[in-house]
Amino acid sequence: MPESSKTVPTRTKNIHRWLWPHNCLLCHARAPAGKDLCAACDRSLPRAQGACPRCGAPGAVVGTDAICGECQKHPPAYDGTRAVFRYASPVDRLIQHLKYHGRLELSRVLGGYLAEHMLTLDDALPDVMVPVPLHVSRLRDRGYNQSLEIARFVAKQLQVPLDWQGTQRIRPTAPQTELPRDQRRKNVRGAFTASRVFAGQRVAIVDDVMTSGHTANALAETLLKSGAREVRVWVVARA
Ligand SMILES: [Zn+2]
Ligand SMILES: [Zn+2]
Repeated sequence: MPESSKTVPTRTKNIHRWLWPHNCLLCHARAPAGKDLCAACDRSLPRAQGACPRCGAPGAVVGTDAICGECQKHPPAYDGTRAVFRYASPVDRLIQHLKYHGRLELSRVLGGYLAEHMLTLDDALPDVMVPVPLHVSRLRDRGYNQSLEIARFVAKQLQVPLDWQGTQRIRPTAPQTELPRDQRRKNVRGAFTASRVFAGQRVAIVDDVMTSGHTANALAETLLKSGAREVRVWVVARA
């Protein structure tokens, strides 16, 4: 059987999505054509509001640009963080389904929210986007890197070059969420390396979730050492 007749081409699938209304991913009610969520579910998503502009930690007074106490004491290597959501229901569930249950189509949904969020902000676009790399052993288990899948979609929407091969995770690390707070920094220290020079580039690191910020910090340090001029972090959700 020729390859093309086995699967419906993506373009045809997309046209179907637009022409026929389908069901909301969360509540299964009818969703407007071209949307994955119904209006009510979309409104109920836990949007990140009032966050530290440097590390994205929630808790700042909405509308102020105050850097949090932790960033004042220990400024991270990256210059700023943008998160669309808080890591709370139902966004946490969508991310877990993407990460652990092979629901790859959710990368388009979550990437869509991230791209839309960046477009509504007034930030200058970076020169390149770098998804947080997975260690080869985890990539082998999972079969894909969810951060790359999200970043792919954002890069296309914002027309920013994507570089998923210029950095590597050289050490397998325990998931940050499974570690006590005081061990998270040590867990990811020296975990990344860069195989190319990022001379003078403004880089946006892309990840699905930011927990303590130590992973992003370790990758930012690697990028800065490789010549990057500025590193920012874009995440779907901030814990
Ligand atoms: Zn719904
Ligand atoms: Zn902060």
